[in-house]
Order: sequence, then C-alpha cells, then structure tokens
Amino acid sequence: MFEKLSDRLGGVFDRLRGRGALNEQDVREAMREVRVALLEADVALPVVRDFVEKVTEKSVGQSVLKSVTPGQQVVKIVNDQLTEMLGSEASELNIAVAPPAVIMMVGLQGSGKTTTTAKIAKLLKGKQNKKVLMASLDVNRPAAQEQLATLGKQVEVTTLPIIEGQQPVEIAKRALQAAKLQSFDVVMLDTAGRLHVDQQLMDEMRAVAKVSTPHEVLLVVDSLTGQDAVNVAKNFGEQVDLTGIVLTRMDGDARGGAALSMRAVTGKPIKFAGVGEKLDQIEPFHPERVAGRILGMGDVVGLVERASEMVQKDEAEALAAKMAKGQFDMNDLRTQLRQMTQMGGLGALAGMMPGMKKAKAAMAGQMDDKVLVRMDAIIGSMTPKERSKPELLNAKRKIRIAKGSGTTVQDVNKLIKMHQEMSRAMKRIKKMGGLKGLAAMFGK
Ligand code: GDP
Repeated sequence: MFEKLSDRLGGVFDRLRGRGALNEQDVREAMREVRVALLEADVALPVVRDFVEKVTEKSVGQSVLKSVTPGQQVVKIVNDQLTEMLGSEASELNIAVAPPAVIMMVGLQGSGKTTTTAKIAKLLKGKQNKKVLMASLDVNRPAAQEQLATLGKQVEVTTLPIIEGQQPVEIAKRALQAAKLQSFDVVMLDTAGRLHVDQQLMDEMRAVAKVSTPHEVLLVVDSLTGQDAVNVAKNFGEQVDLTGIVLTRMDGDARGGAALSMRAVTGKPIKFAGVGEKLDQIEPFHPERVAGRILGMGDVVGLVERASEMVQKDEAEALAAKMAKGQFDMNDLRTQLRQMTQMGGLGALAGMMPGMKKAKAAMAGQMDDKVLVRMDAIIGSMTPKERSKPELLNAKRKIRIAKGSGTTVQDVNKLIKMHQEMSRAMKRIKKMGGLKGLAAMFGK
C-alpha cells in the first residue's frame, strides 16, 4: 500500500534534509512537491489543498525557521497532518452494548462485502471472544446466502439458516430474534450488494436499518476504485447513517487516494482495511500507524538514538556505507542480531527497527530471545560464500545448514525471510540517505 506516495515523499524529505537551515522558499518548494505527490496518489483536490495549506502554515512559522533541525520538524508536521487527514484516532466498533449488537454491512456488489463480513466475524470471535451470528439478506444475487454460509463454516461462525423466498426485512427480524433467544453477542447483517447506487435497493437498506436499529453501519468500498470509492461513500452516507468505512483491496493499492481522502470528504472514519483474500487478512485502521507507514520510517528516530548510544561509531558508518550500496548480507544480519542482544533483546527492539515488525510477523510469534541464538547458529552453519550471497541458498544447502545448526529447514527459511524483509527496509533507508543521513535529518 501507498508505495508510490512513500517514494515521492521520501524524495522530497531527502532534499530538505540536505539543507542546513530552511527558509520559507525551501518549505514552499517542498510543499509544491508534496502537492504533486498527493495528486498523483489520487487524493481529492480540496483535500490536497487543505493539507498543503496547513502544513505550509505550520512549517513557515518562526519557531521552525530558527530551529536547528528544520528537516525533522517538517517531517513531523507532515506526519501529524497525514494522521489528522486519515482520521487521527483508531475507531473501535461500537459493540459494547446490551447484546445483541447489530452490525449492518452495506456496499456495492463486488466490493468485498460478504468476505469482509466473515473477516470481521472471525476477528470478533477470535480476538474478543464474541458469539457472532451472521445473516445474508441478499435475495437478489443467486447463491449469495450460500456464499455467506460457506464462509461461516470456514471461520466457524454460525449463520442464520436460509429460508427460501423470505424477504430482507423478514430475514433481519428473524436474525435478531434468533440472536436474542440464543444469546449471541453480535449479529452481522450482510445486505444485498448493488451494482450502482440504485433507489430501490437504497429503500430496502433503509427498511432493514429501521427494523434492526444497527449500532454499526459499515460501508465496504474497494480502495482500488480511488475517488469513485469516495463518491460511493458520499452517496451511501446521504441515504443511511454510516458509522464507518471498510476499505478493501488495500493490498493492491499502491496509490492510496481513497484511504487518504475518505475521512476528509465524507467525515466518516475508516475502521478496517482489507489486505488480501484470506479471511484473516483484515486490519483495524490506525491512522497514526498508517501515516508512519506512508513516511516509511518505522520508529527510526528511536532506533538511531539507541544505536548511537550503543554501537561504535565506525561500525555504524561501515554499516551505513554497506547499506548505501544495497549490500546487506548475512554477516551484517548476524552483527545486527548480536547488537540486538546487547541492546536489550528483541522485546525492546521489535517495532523500532524498520522492517522488524514484518520480520516478526514472518517468524509467527516465535520471536523470543532464544530465537536470536538459534538464528546466530544458522548463520554460523553457512559458508562464507553463502553469507555474503544469500541468494545461493537453495533447497539442498538449506537442508545442510539446518542439520549443521540443529534446526529445521523451516527455521532456515524464516531467517532468510527476515533477511529479505530487513534488506528491503534498508533499501528504503538508503533512499533517505542512509543511517547517517537519517541521523542528520533527525538532528542527532
Ligand atoms: P461482495 O459482492 O461485495 O460480497 O464481494 P465478495 O465478498 O464476494 O468479494 C469479491 C472478491 O473480492 C472475492 O474474490 C474476494 O476474495 C475479494 N476480496 C475481498 N476483500 C479483499 C481484499 O481486501 N483484498 C483482496 N485482494 N481481495 C479481496
């Protein structure tokens, strides 16, 4: 997600970083580029204007110009403004009500509504231990009700038994009744999809809302449709009281225009992002984290601070030089792992290091400090050639290394995956001018 915007903004900040002090001219020039970057990301024009105006206003203030670290401040201002644009705070689902809480799902056909219904049900069941009942009110599309039933089986969530010929309002009433009788915590109503915003189906949606008085009305929209998604949200919002938006297919959305304009244009919070076809590929939408991701820096500030305390200066410079050439090999990973142990283990570092969060996810929750020792052993069992050229590691070599280190091929693969994730993060840092460049940018 957001790769293109990330790249563009990275370039803008890189140029700002090169300056000792910023004058108004510098800021205005940078903001012109930010404006182009946002427009290229397909963000709605009024939103872009407002964004650039606010950032310029805050950046051109005296305190910034006199500051010793102007680059840092501009990045921070852009970061804060992005967060605000995305909606500031993460919006929880309003389901802490006398049960059953009713969640009504609405959206155009093909937006991913039914899949998202099952994904949210799975989340509520797994993470919040809720007893969830799903019901499909889609009597228009053949097999829509069966589709939800099938998904229900996959995520092990009950679906309302199908009664042929029953109409949406009746199904909604039956779902609520069943939920009350069988003490479900949450009822999810998957309403009929629409090909476009059509009046008859809008009336049906309102009628369902009237009998079910939902606590949440979530609109599912496809982020790949960009500004159309925002217009769809506006149209739906005029017909029914939406409480939130779910943006699907964020996994394929390199531009992010819908996500970036949605809150500002519709006033509705984005509550979830769909990030893949699998039923666990959904994430609560945290504006702050998303802004951080767009700027692509993780908590690099924190990392630079800690690292500068611990790591010998020349070692850091050698690493920075290697990173600048895009050569982060297994030897470097080993050095990093050993430093991590020194710096307070993984617990202290995960999330601070760019790429570590993903790497941690790749390790599937096994990221304790024993893992560090195991990873060290795996690298120890590689030949010097393999260490400097990890792409040599084929199946045969992996088996040998696993044997040599007393681990499994799976462990070896995890380490390789981690190395790849970190290399990718390093490349990104390289674009920002290397670790040294980052340190300079953050005024260290
Ligand atoms: P509906 O007509 O709105 O109910 O749409 P469906 O739930 O049937 O989904 C349509 C297609 O989109 C299916 O193939 C889903 O697997 C796919 N889909 C849904 N959400 C996502 C997502 O977040 N990412 C990706 N890549 N595909 C998704």
